Amino acid sequence: MPADRECVLGWLRRSADVLHQQRQALTDLDAAIGDADHGTNMDRGFTVVIERLPGVADKDIGTILKTVGMALVSTVGGASGPLYGTAFLRAGAALADKEELQPDDLVAGVAAAVEGIMQRGRAQAGEKTMVDVLVPALAALQGAVQAGKTIPEALRVMDAAAQAAVPLTIPMLATKGRASYLGERSIGHQDPGATSSALLIHAMIG
Ligand code: ADP
Ligand code: MG
Repeated sequence: MPADRECVLGWLRRSADVLHQQRQALTDLDAAIGDADHGTNMDRGFTVVIERLPGVADKDIGTILKTVGMALVSTVGGASGPLYGTAFLRAGAALADKEELQPDDLVAGVAAAVEGIMQRGRAQAGEKTMVDVLVPALAALQGAVQAGKTIPEALRVMDAAAQAAVPLTIPMLATKGRASYLGERSIGHQDPGATSSALLIHAMIG
């Protein structure tokens, strides 16, 4: 069964809920290696996303995702706003005019999002950022879809890869973003953006 608009809207609502619940935890992670605002940033951004959803709730999936991207770019300060904003704008462009998503569309949307973040942030895997969750998550999703899994099955495979990747950021040395200013002292802390990416992916499971 394809994923429809309601699946996408449900994901966005669950994302806003979990980012609100985890606001303090994300900010605490950012306090250790950044400037203690990641939870506030994400909660503020997704609060505005939810406010804007009624205006596009009958539109195609591409339009909904582009609206999310614009909301994040315009309301979230810091590095994560433009990065997540770009991800949603790129996914929206990749899925323009789609009323429903087949497994291949899901791969195309997630791939466009991850590529957008990597280009915008000039980041590769291994630099202690959200990319360290998104790259293995995308690879797992691609593998599952190529193996013929349904969307719900493929989302579970992607989620498992994302959750497993989060603690792997702890021993990494940050070479991108604010955490890189700490040099060796960034080692031993979980990356906040990797954590929020894993929350967003987990929220895809309905
Ligand atoms: P800021 O660092 O500007 O305060 P946030 O605290 O909201 O912004 O977000 C920090 C997160 O953004 C980091 O934990 C990291 O995952 C991610 N990040 C920062 N810089 C980059 C980058 N160049 N590429 C990818 N992700 C990045
Ligand atoms: Mg910060």
